[in-house]
Amino acid sequence: MTPVLKDSFGRVATDLRVSLTDKCNLRCTYCMPPEGLDWLPNPQLLTADEIVRLVTIGVERLGVTEVRYTGGEPLLRRELLGIVAGTARLRPRPEISLTTNGIGLARLAGPLAEAGLDRVNVSLDTLDRDTFKRLAHRDRLEDVIAGLAAADAAGLRPVKVNAVLMRDLNEHEAPDLLRYCLEQGYELRFIEQMPLDAQHGWTRDNMITADEILARLSGVFDLTPDDREDRGSAPAERFLVNGGPARVGVIGSVTRPFCGACDRVRLTADGQVRNCLFAREESDLKTAMRAGASDEDLAARWIAAVARKLPGHGINDPSFLQPSRPMSAIGG
Ligand code: SAM
Repeated sequence: MTPVLKDSFGRVATDLRVSLTDKCNLRCTYCMPPEGLDWLPNPQLLTADEIVRLVTIGVERLGVTEVRYTGGEPLLRRELLGIVAGTARLRPRPEISLTTNGIGLARLAGPLAEAGLDRVNVSLDTLDRDTFKRLAHRDRLEDVIAGLAAADAAGLRPVKVNAVLMRDLNEHEAPDLLRYCLEQGYELRFIEQMPLDAQHGWTRDNMITADEILARLSGVFDLTPDDREDRGSAPAERFLVNGGPARVGVIGSVTRPFCGACDRVRLTADGQVRNCLFAREESDLKTAMRAGASDEDLAARWIAAVARKLPGHGINDPSFLQPSRPMSAIGG
């Protein structure tokens, strides 16, 4: 029997999020400061071969069934097509997806689909060019919109859109974003802002909660909980819009945590296993791999890292401490 990545609370991790780089070409205020961050030096990043080797161990030895490439911005990773193709050759073949800001997707969506990518999540927080510039500190809204269209045309469906709402910035855009996604046939999910920004600027009072998001949407759309299928480990609570079949999701990571059903494990761009976005401890597979560890040894280290997963992210505990790495370095 294949060993699995099981923690002491009985949860099994089958969904692997792999950060391909900590670099990004946007500076979204909920993630990093306008001047950017000190990026990881290249020798510290896993090579494409090392990434595929670890993903292979995850899939073939440890029961991983879904692989999501993310970052930073994964489209900035030059070897992305080869990494996706290497993942698509694995058996059992995992589902392969990508979380991206969409910049460059207009050019890459077709080749990525050919390499074996199944679908994408594209981040889009606003439809207003000036707001985009204020939020992301770059004038790239048109590129994102073009990237979304290319992903759809390349069959990377369902095309999912991730949006984070920020107070006094884009919070009023919830209905507009949903209307746009309904028109285009994209599935929109709002994510509550989490304390993962490098600047440590997150405050509970400033966060737009799931309740507020739903209140804004309900003023315009008829939303009913979508109980057609079990939510399982899905982070998003889904709602049928105007009776369906179109849906919208709300990921209430802070006010409606779903840790009890979490099936995710993360690998950072520098080869650290993290058993939670908010973990304060990592397990270093890169150093072991570069010192000559066998696949079996790496698998054993990975199993041990997941076994230590805590019951919850702890954001709502008085003793909560933000992880020392920001979201861009962990892989969202
Ligand atoms: N660059 C890619 C992108 O923009 O999708 C992938 C990495 S990004 C860190 C992944 C997702 O995390 C994006 O949808 C982004 O909006 C979200 N994100 C980043 N910081 C966040 C925060 N503090 N709270 C909630 N979501 C956040």
